[in-house]
Amino acid sequence: MDTVNINGTLIWYYYICPREVWFIGHSIEADQENDFLALGRHIHDFYYKKQKKEFIIDNTIKIDILPGKKVIGEIKKSSKYLKSATMQIAFYLYFLKQKGINLSGELLFPEERKKKKIFLTKEIENELKNAISNINKILNMDKPPKATKIHYCKNCAYKEMCWS
Ligand code: SF4
Repeated sequence: MDTVNINGTLIWYYYICPREVWFIGHSIEADQENDFLALGRHIHDFYYKKQKKEFIIDNTIKIDILPGKKVIGEIKKSSKYLKSATMQIAFYLYFLKQKGINLSGELLFPEERKKKKIFLTKEIENELKNAISNINKILNMDKPPKATKIHYCKNCAYKEMCWS
């Protein structure tokens, strides 16, 4: 399965909006002043002051290893987009498995004081392969997929591009 052009961010957005996958994959700049992005950065920076151990794999994939544990961690500001977050971690686990490293994952929601363990089951792995194949198709499109109004649009950094 070709993961060359794929990263965890694209996997996350694939489960939100394919149009956004295309924008990000084509390096189209989002509105960096978007409040939603700013809040995410703030929580990430604050929580990681004591906990962070970040690694870059193959110059493309950035993961966080939780101190003292054989798990990779991913911090999210809310559990609202649990499916996206689960598949993002699963992607990192899948990538590492291909390198002979078998770990489990942990999603952390510090604002909600919640955690969720993630394991790379056969089912999740098959779903992930399908997502990777679809993302590659989206990235190869000449134009972004049509905009479809979803709940996420109101916080999306690309909303001006889609709806103004
Ligand atoms: S504004 Fe909505 S349709 Fe446009 S990229 Fe964002 S989520 Fe997708």
